[in-house]
Parts: sequence; structure tokens; C-alpha cells
Amino acid sequence: MVWQGGRTKIKAKAGYDLCPVSFVRRSIRMATLDEWDRRYVTGETAAVTKLFFPNAVAAYRIVRKIETTNIRTQFMTGHGGFSEYLERFKCKDNPACICDQDISETVPHVLLECPVFAQERVQLETELGIKLEKHVVKELMSSKQRDRFLRYSQRSYHKMANTKPFTVFVEGNIGSGKTTFLEHFRQFEDITLLTEPVEEWRNLRGWNLLDLMYKDPSKWAMAFQAYVSLTMLDMHRRPTTTPVKLMERSIYSARYCFVEHMQRSGILHPAQFAVLDEWFRFIHTEIPIEADLIVYLKTDPKIAYERIKRRARSEEQCVPLSYLEELHKLHEDWLVNRTFAECPAPVLVIDADLDLSQITEEYKKTEHQILRKAVDVVMRSPNKLSPKKPITSSPIKIIPQIRL
Ligand SMILES: [Zn+2]
Repeated sequence: MVWQGGRTKIKAKAGYDLCPVSFVRRSIRMATLDEWDRRYVTGETAAVTKLFFPNAVAAYRIVRKIETTNIRTQFMTGHGGFSEYLERFKCKDNPACICDQDISETVPHVLLECPVFAQERVQLETELGIKLEKHVVKELMSSKQRDRFLRYSQRSYHKMANTKPFTVFVEGNIGSGKTTFLEHFRQFEDITLLTEPVEEWRNLRGWNLLDLMYKDPSKWAMAFQAYVSLTMLDMHRRPTTTPVKLMERSIYSARYCFVEHMQRSGILHPAQFAVLDEWFRFIHTEIPIEADLIVYLKTDPKIAYERIKRRARSEEQCVPLSYLEELHKLHEDWLVNRTFAECPAPVLVIDADLDLSQITEEYKKTEHQILRKAVDVVMRSPNKLSPKKPITSSPIKIIPQIRL
């Protein structure tokens, strides 16, 4: 640009020797990128990042298209839970991978060679029809298969770092629409879905414990609940490779709602109750159970009753309304009123009184947000441990965790 003197000439001749600011900006940006690229390519640092991006220009273009998460950044830079990196900063005694004492756990090793992740790698290779090698990574990053490849990286990282998944329990009365709710999360690859192991309760070495319990509760409640605890514990302890684990009910609702009801209504003899309660206490104190969020599907017992009648599951047909009302009260006292028992995680309350088809629509609208919103609210809220009232005023409410 040319300096035109001290005065501003409003009616100046067209300045053909001038150029638009946008052009200058673009030139500066390109020059900066060129210099960045020169340093990136010739420099000795960023060896891991170069595995993903051959040059700075490609990196600039691709990074703007992908969602950057904490884990992705760790993977693309190598600055994360890799033994080789941790050892450099004296956070670990040696850089070895668990597969071989003589091999360092680095990003290329985990992604391309390590036998620990062979299953996920073969799956990726079969799906994309490729052999995952060093030069292929760059090609994948600038292709349409990038997202699939990033998911593989993410899963491997979770498995490697043994990162605990964000664990959600979906709680609610019988007929509260848990199945409908859970079905909406089945499509997400990053979520492991564990539904109530009803089939196991229906067939224990040929015996239908669920049916026996409904038909003669005073005789079978104890055996049934003992088996429920075992199968639930199995679900809690099942390892996952995804960042989110969604469970239908938990060992907590088994104890605080169902066993509690059996005790209060006299179905369980006090001695039988004492045995179940001792089991629960032992598990609760001795075995670590992850719980990050409880999604509570709050339903009017009358609505739940109508739904149960309509869906006609054979074992549930003799369930009276009064039973649902009592279970509802126990859920409310445990998760909302907080007058009974301990709540292991913050609670997300969802109004599940809507007709099931409407709920389906609601979930479709919010399926992407429900968990993310919950996670955000819970994690970011400074009130997350405050015993005050729910944080949000929307139909989805979060009640902070309280330990009684
Ligand atoms: Zn290895």
C-alpha cells in the first residue's frame, strides 16, 4: 500500500496501485502457513503429529473439520497416557507396553502394531478394506473414512489407558419406559448398553425365577433377589471399551427399591432381609462400583400400570397398582426427596409420563443432547455437590448428588 500524504482525499482518483485488505490478509496467511509448513516438515519435533498430518497445510484444513476432544488431542500429539510419554516426565518407571517389556508404548505402536488392540484393528481393516500401516494413516485422515479411523483410535486409547467409562444408570418404576429410552442409545457406537438381564432371571438352569417370584413371592423373593444382585454385580464389573456405559437399573435400585419394598411389606422374613442386606453392604464397601449419573424416568404409577397392561409380559400380569405406587414412592424418596438411602451419583430427572410414541419423538429430538447435556451440567456446575434444589428448570432436571 502507498502512503498518500497527510490529508484524506475523499474524491481521490481510483488507486490502481492499491490492493484490497482481503488480499493482504490472504497473502500474510499463506506466507505464515508456508513458514509454519517449512518448520513443521524440517523440524525434529511433532513426530507423532506427522503420522497423522504430512504437512501443516493439510493439518490446518483437516483439524478445522473434526471435533477436537481431549482424547483425540492426546492421540494426535502423543502427549497423554502413553507409557513412553509418561516415563519421559517421570510419571512412570519404564516406557514398556504391556505386550512386550522391550517395546515402548507409543502412538504408532498402539495404533499399528500392538497385539492388545488387534481385534479392533482387524475390524477396522476389514470394514475399510485396507492394511493399517504408517503411510495409510495420513491417507485415512484426509479421506471420508477419517471418522471411522478416529473412532478406532479413540477406542484403542480407552482400552490402553483403561479409562473408566462415564457410567449411567437408567432407573425407574416397572412400566416407566426404560426399554424405549435405552433403545434410542443402541445406535451410538460410543455407548455400551447393558439392559437388565431378564433372560438370565427367566432361565437359571431351566428355572424361571422371575415367574416363580411373581407367583409365590414369600417363597421365592429371597432367591430371586440374591440372583438379581449377582447378575447386576456382573454388569457393574463388565469392562467396556467405549467412553460411555449405560446400564438399565443397578445394584442400588435392587436394594433400595425392590428389596426394601419386600422387607417393608413383609414378603421377606427379617432374617432373609438381613442376609440380602449384608451381601449388599459387603459389595458396596468392598467392590468399586462406578456411578457418574442416574437418569430417572419419573412416571405416574397409574400411567405405568396402564402401560404394563398393554404390553402384556406374562410374568407382570398379576402386578397390582398398589405395588407400583409403593415402588414409585421408594424411587422418589431415594432419588428426588433424598429422605432414604444413599444416592451414588447426581440424578437427571426425565418426565416419562408422555405417551410412549411421544417419548420416542422427544428422545429422537434430544438423543444427542441428553447425555452430553447431563455430562456438561454435572461436570461444569459449581453446585454439583451442593444439596440445593435442581440446577436447571427445563423438563430435564439435575438433582445434585448428596450423601446422607
Ligand atoms: Zn504393545
